[in-house]
Amino acid sequence: MKPPKVPPIAALWEWQLSAACRGLESARFFSPTGERGQARVLRERAAREICGGCAVREECARFAAESGEQHGVWGGVSRERATRRQRSGTSPTVS
Ligand code: SF4
Repeated sequence: MKPPKVPPIAALWEWQLSAACRGLESARFFSPTGERGQARVLRERAAREICGGCAVREECARFAAESGEQHGVWGGVSRERATRRQRSGTSPTVS
């Protein structure tokens, strides 16, 4: 019996080694409990600015979409916004 063709696990995550957010607190990218309104807008804007200088934005956005992430900022887009765009039929562009 042949073993299944599964890529090495490291290959699935290797892009994260080049992430601009590497070593930063995840709270910059994920909404803390009870966060609302302007606080959320400002946190997400700051997260998107970090993503703007990231070399692996496309990989990050693809990973989030393919793994069904529903929260946080990935690839410069909030997953809540990306999910709304996908449901409305518009493209979840990286911005
Ligand atoms: S795009 Fe943003 S969230 Fe994704 S790896 Fe880069 S800095 Fe981190």
